[in-house]
Amino acid sequence: MRVLVIGGAGYIGSHVQKQLLEEGFDVAVFDDLSTGSEINLLPQTEFIRGSILDKDALNEAMGRHIDGVVHLAAKKAVGESMLCPEIYAENNICGSLNILNAMAANGVRHIVFSSSAAVYGMPQYIPVDEKHPIRPINYYGYTKAAIEENMRWYSQLGKLNYAALRYFNAVGYAADGSIRGKEKNPQNLMPIIMEAATGKREKFSIFGNDYDTPDGTCIRDYVHVSDLAKAHTLALKKLAADNVSFAVNLGTGKGTSVKEIVDAAEKVIGKKLNYDYAPRRAGDPAILTAGAGLARELLGWQPEYTDVEKIIQTVWNLEQEQN
Ligand code: UDP
Repeated sequence: MRVLVIGGAGYIGSHVQKQLLEEGFDVAVFDDLSTGSEINLLPQTEFIRGSILDKDALNEAMGRHIDGVVHLAAKKAVGESMLCPEIYAENNICGSLNILNAMAANGVRHIVFSSSAAVYGMPQYIPVDEKHPIRPINYYGYTKAAIEENMRWYSQLGKLNYAALRYFNAVGYAADGSIRGKEKNPQNLMPIIMEAATGKREKFSIFGNDYDTPDGTCIRDYVHVSDLAKAHTLALKKLAADNVSFAVNLGTGKGTSVKEIVDAAEKVIGKKLNYDYAPRRAGDPAILTAGAGLARELLGWQPEYTDVEKIIQTVWNLEQEQN
């Protein structure tokens, strides 16, 4: 099976590329390198540099005997999406529609789409399963929900079948060190902790210590990127074998607080980190963990990493190698 990984030079996409290659898929990566990095591309991967806003480039790429698409090319900073929705409308909505249309025009049937727990909005209950209402509270989450809805229509209209993978908090790096590109201007907790650990930033803040949680800091469901990557190959195989469409959560079901992450990072790194407590960040729910039973049931997906220290170690190994 030949797979076009759109956004395959990015953080999650490069791990997906690696997993696909290891399972014997033929892989082409389509990426504009706006945030991804060429050093993430493995030697067996064919690379097509192009933008999802360029319909001709997409058509050309889809015409090269593609059997399935994994689409991870998106803007993903929640805060920025609330300030500049136009950028998110263009990249995440128009760009994704271009992909669906290029697939339809070239008879490419299967798409695995990077969705997000952000489609659920403020959780009405925990853990959040796939039956939870879709009510995004930020524009980024809306763009993901909008594309899920379009894929649902396209699938009902016989154009394609899809897997929407709703990621919870992606963390970690491939344990063998083969993916080395770091994200530019990271906004997420783990890369920010690493910048503080390596002196690239003087300190960081924990946003809020007055939540209704045991230690007062927010609880999230951190899932290792290699486990996420594995779910993509399982989803592609399911699409090809059963001609179904589905949306599933990808999380471990286990919650870890920000303070627990910071403590675990200090233990792995072997030194105290410089941080303070700052006010809550707007739009952060106290607890967000995944009901992940459906991914297990449908795909046989079972995360291998359940220990946050082991996850952090995979990130710290990379930092040490590069500093
Ligand atoms: N967080 C924090 N300080 C930071 C960045 C994040 O305390 O500098 C917290 C954030 O409030 C949330 C958790 O860490 O509770 C994970 O945030 P991240 O941005 O990594 O992912 P999100 O949960 O927003 O998808």
